[in-house]
Formats: sequence, C-alpha cells, structure tokens
Amino acid sequence: MFVCGRIVGQLPARLTHVNHLYRPVKYAGIVNINNLRHSSDASNKKPHKPSGTTIKPEECVPESRYLKSQKTIPACETGASCPAPQESCKPNSMQNQPNGKGSDFSKNGKYQFRYWHLVAALIVTGVAYKISSSFLKDDKTDQSKGQSKQKKEGRRHSRSKNKVKVPADSKLIPKEVPYLLIGGGTAAFSAFRSIKSRDPKAKVLVIAQEEEFPYMRPPLSKELWYNTDRDTTAQLRFNQWNGTQRSIFYEPREFYSNVTHLIESDKGGVAVAMGWKVTKINVISKTVTLENGYEINYDKCLIATGTSPKNLPIFEFAEDNVKNKVITFRTKDNFLDLEENVSNPKCKNVIIIGGGFLGSELACALARSYKSKNIFQIYKEKFIMAQVLPEYLSEWTTKKSEAEGVRTISNTEVQDYKYKNGRLSLVLTGGQTIDADQVIVAVGVHPNTDLAATSNLETDPKIGGFLVNAELEARSNLWVAGDAACFYDVKLGRRRVEHHDHAVTSGRLAGENMTGAGKPYLHQSMFWSDLGPDVGYEAIGIVDSSLPTVGVFAKTTEANAMSVNNLSDEQKNSKVSRSNEKSDSQSSMSQIVKNVNNTEDNVEEGKKEVREDNINPEQPTKYEDFEKGIVFYLRDDVVVGIVLWNIFNRMSIARRVLAGNTKYEDLNEVAKLFTIHED
Ligand SMILES: Cc1cc2nc3c(=O)[nH]c(=O)nc-3n(C[C@H](O)[C@H](O)[C@H](O)COP(=O)(O)OP(=O)(O)OC[C@H]3O[C@@H](n4cnc5c(N)ncnc54)[C@H](O)[C@@H]3O)c2cc1C
Repeated sequence: MFVCGRIVGQLPARLTHVNHLYRPVKYAGIVNINNLRHSSDASNKKPHKPSGTTIKPEECVPESRYLKSQKTIPACETGASCPAPQESCKPNSMQNQPNGKGSDFSKNGKYQFRYWHLVAALIVTGVAYKISSSFLKDDKTDQSKGQSKQKKEGRRHSRSKNKVKVPADSKLIPKEVPYLLIGGGTAAFSAFRSIKSRDPKAKVLVIAQEEEFPYMRPPLSKELWYNTDRDTTAQLRFNQWNGTQRSIFYEPREFYSNVTHLIESDKGGVAVAMGWKVTKINVISKTVTLENGYEINYDKCLIATGTSPKNLPIFEFAEDNVKNKVITFRTKDNFLDLEENVSNPKCKNVIIIGGGFLGSELACALARSYKSKNIFQIYKEKFIMAQVLPEYLSEWTTKKSEAEGVRTISNTEVQDYKYKNGRLSLVLTGGQTIDADQVIVAVGVHPNTDLAATSNLETDPKIGGFLVNAELEARSNLWVAGDAACFYDVKLGRRRVEHHDHAVTSGRLAGENMTGAGKPYLHQSMFWSDLGPDVGYEAIGIVDSSLPTVGVFAKTTEANAMSVNNLSDEQKNSKVSRSNEKSDSQSSMSQIVKNVNNTEDNVEEGKKEVREDNINPEQPTKYEDFEKGIVFYLRDDVVVGIVLWNIFNRMSIARRVLAGNTKYEDLNEVAKLFTIHED
C-alpha cells in the first residue's frame, strides 16, 4: 500500500540512545494550536480520535437519499409468491362464475354471503393445512435450506463473476465527451467533483471497470468489521468517528446522470459507464478505445486507474477449489465475500499473509470481530508494519495486535499448499503446515498501468505508475491522479503514493487543471491507519523504516511502563531518557528514542553517538509504553516524514515542519510543537 523507494538495504536495525532530557515546555509561546485540539481528554482514547479524517462529512450521503432511489418492487412482480396480495394483484374470480339458480351469486353477478360457507371454508382450510404441513414439512425445510444455500453460492458467484455492464451495449455510450475519466475510484470521484464545482454544466463521463458507482475503500478493512449490526454491514454502512453513520458510496445513485442521455442534458452531469475497460488512449486524436473496440473522443482525459492487489504465484495457477478459499482484498465485493466466508461456522482458521497496512488492519479487525476463530497473520519480517515503523515501535504494535487476539507468525513465508479431501493447508518456510479455511493475501499492490504500453505513455521503472509532471499532466489534455500517478513532489522528489488523501487531493487538482487552473501539486497528503481500537496513527511524507528516526513519546501513567524483560536485544541495549516535567497543571513524562540503522555507512556513527551520549550500558533501563508520540524520519538530517502516533489533529504542524526543510539541532524541541501531553 505504501511505496517509497527503500534507500538502504534492510539490515538489522539497531537502537542507540540519546541522553536528551525532555525539558519543561512552554508550548503556547511557540505555536498556538488551541483551535486544532478536538479533545481535552488526557487519555486521548479512540472515541475522540477522528480516524479517517480525510473522509470529510461533506462527502457523506444521507441514507434516506440513498435508499429512496431503491424502488421497492412488489413480490408478485419479482416472480416470488405474493405474501399479501394487494387489490391490484387479486384474480377477478367473479368473471368465471356461473350465474344460475342456486348459485351463490345474485342475478347481477354479486356474491351472496351464506354462513355455512364460512364454516366449511374454515374446516377445509384447517384440514388442508394439517395434511400439507405434516407431509411437506421436511421437504420444505430441506428445499428452502437448499434454495438458500444455492442463493448464497449464487450470490457469491454472481458477485465476483456475473457482473453486468451498464449500459450493456457500448453503442449507448456517447461517442464524444468534454471530460472523460478512466477509472471510477476515489481519484475519479474527487476529480469530477472539482470539475463540476468549477464548471457546473460540465458533462463528465466516467468509464469504470468495476460495476459500481464510486466508493471509498478504507472502511473495508476497518469500520465495516466493527459494526455489531450485520444488517448495517450488509448495506455497506459504517459508523464514523463523529458518531454518524454513512454509506461507503460517495454519492447516491440518483446523483448520476444516465450515460445515454448525458450529452443531451442542458445542465450537464456525471455519468458512469460501469463494467467497461479502457484499453488504449490515442493522445493525438484524443480518443480512448474500450475492450470491444468502441471509441470515444474526449477534450480532456484523466487516468485514475489505481492499483490491483498482488497474489502469490502459488495461488495464481491453483485449481478452482483452492482459489475459492483464497482472496485478495481491494473491492467491496471482496469485503462481502470475505465477510460471508468468515461468518460461516465451518470457517475456523483464517490465515492472513502479509505484515503491511492491509494485512495488519484486517488481522486486528477480524480478531476483534470473530473471537471464536483463529486469526493467523504470517509475514516475512520480524514484526508487523516493519517497513514503515522503527523496530521498537513495530514490535510494540505487534504485541498490541496479539493482545487483540491475532496469532502472529513472523519471519515466515508461505511456500506451497496442500489440498486434500476439501481441506487446504499452507506449507511454510521450515516445512511446517497450517490448516486454512480462508486465506487472505495482502502482500502489496501494483499500479494499473497496462494503458502505458498500448498508448505509448511513460512509466517509472523503479516505483511504477504513469510519469506526470508537477501539474499531474502526462501529455497535453491527459492527466493522471491517485495511486497510479508517479508525480514530482517539489519537496521530496519523485513519488507514488497509495493512500486515500492523496487520491482525493491529486484527483481534485487534476480536475482543477482539466478546467484550466494550471496549478502544481504542492499539497503534502497524509495517510492514516487503525489497528484495532487502541492504535491509530496519521503520517505524512516519507515514512520508511530504513531511514534514521527519532521518536518522542509521552508517558502519563507508571502502570503502563513495559518491563525491559519483554524487550528485544536491540531494545535492551538501547537507552531511553526520561524526565519528569510539569506542563501546565499536568505532570507528564517523555521518552526519546533514536533509531540509527545498522547499515555499513552508519554503524560507526551509531557507536560514536553512544560514546558521546555517555550512557552507562549497565544502567538499568525501563521501556515506557509507546502509547502516543511522534516519530521523525530523517534524510541527510532533514525531516522527510512524520508519524503522529495516537495523537490527532496535528497534521498542519507536521506539514509545516516538513515544509521547513531545516536541519534541526534538537528534534526534541520540534516535538514540543506537537504538545503531545496535552490531550
Ligand atoms: C481495503 C483498503 C483499505 C484502505 N485503507 C486506507 C487507509 O486507511 N488510509 C489510506 O490513506 N488509504 C487506504 N487505502 C488506500 C486507498 O483506498 C487508495 O489509495 C485509493 O483508493 C486510491 O484511489 P484511486 O482512485 O487512485 O484508485 P482506486 O480506488 O483503486 O480506483 C481505480 C479504479 O479504476 C478502475 N480501473 C482500472 N483500470 C481501468 C481501466 N483500464 N478502465 C476503466 N477502469 C479501470 C479499477 O477497477 C478501480 O475501480 C485502502 C485501500 C484498501 C483496498
């Protein structure tokens, strides 16, 4: 999910120490961030945390609006048996009745009520019911069970395979459009929103390979699993940090125009051709070609094709029975499939492969939601999130995840599988096997750049993605935004970012530039991740664990302190400096952890630092809990990335520090800007 060039080879990280005392602070004089604070609660626990802050309330879609569009079809119209026939559905029995003497109908054809009719009807109905229920009961149960199983299987099958293109015939898609967006994800959504705000009558056509209107992905690995009400989950609705509920869909379906009528509309609009894939762009004739050869002319075009999950080669060519138990995770259908599979009582062992963002988020979410299942997370690194967090923090996070119920298997890869009598087991490095009822492969993504080869567009050989300039332009009248863009960050160099906020901000800028703004992409996007309810963080810039880091952590209670006995060798050998400080009325402690990587280049430097800091290696150390704090990532002593660890609403300060491009003498002083003790 997160890509930035790993500069130094990953050698075992080594924690060294610094002997800075965390001095009393007069934060208020440095920067006034009072208006940024969202809570004065000292514990800063999750309920106050605006996780997913980039999903802004204005993007919310009131459920009522969304549901209204789903017209209820009477059961009799669907072909199902009519449970309570309405007047219009009742057969007109009178038309077939004889009209003679002795009949129960009057001469004018009206029915004449007689009491014995009622008695007879009740007797007949009772007897018939008894007979039918005793004869048919078992059959009916079996049949309905079978039907519901069939329906479920069918649903799963239809979800992934039998999708319908809308419109079904490409001829119904306009031949010429002013704005054409390729891909119907977050970047495309953000782009059409900004196009419409600058050009209200714009006619925007989105070609989306997924058969869905644009929706957001972050809740698929977090909030949707935390819903206790499964009906809400089934509707793809989730509770936001502010307590309100919303759908993952950005806009209700009635927001969108009909593809066929888009061009006729005076008011313009946004239409989504779903299930269609663009296979080629001709930048000279300004034409895109769909997979069936159909061509559409555009004035301005955006590529927002995102990324696709990688799979393990062993599963790519596996038999269908094995494939049915293995899932890669990206789409709403992946979520629904996984939720259905894991909820099945027969599913006991869920194996998540991968120790990055997605694998770790899913592992925590599943462990919390399905206490009775075994949730295993297998990864090749020593700890989870090891490519992003410094080692001491990734170890701490791994312990938190284990406390959530995740069974972690580190330093391990899946090498093969065995499938016998319907049972799947995975063969791990070292030869051990582990039974798997459901496998989730979360080993990263690759940018969707097939179009580059067919359209003579350039991609970055190292980090992938379509090469664009700072205005996100690949060619005249052709822009790229979101996960698929490899852009020039004027501060940090060439990058590709696979995060929601980047998709939103780059999509917005692309939309502005498509309407003539000509602006460079200067915004430093952020990202966030939640690992269960107690660990959440926001980050900005290049956060790569192979860079040297300095972490400053707050400590509020002695009870949280971790004993040195729980720590790895590196941690035992490292030192933590602590000080008691009085900040306003609150007594708090901080610790600073400097993590200089043990690469050939900096081993000497690390050693020197120990000597200079003059810390006695025998001195007993006690590791504090890394409950909340900041981690600075350094390149040539300049801060290039910041993780805000369980502290929130400080992103604007982080942006300023990053923009400063300064070599700071003492990052401890910089940390004070973030007032980490204050909420
Ligand atoms: C489960 C999950 C959780 C996440 N959680 C977080 C999080 O907590 N924080 C965070 O910052 N980020 C998170 N992300 C990442 C974030 O969702 C992505 O960065 C974002 O979706 C990227 O948006 P995009 O528009 O570039 O691409 P996408 O959302 O991937 O959309 C691209 C769309 O283009 C379509 N497409 C591809 N090729 C073609 C073609 N040739 N023709 C037509 N259509 C095409 C694809 O089918 C896809 O629908 C998460 C991602 C996932 C999967």
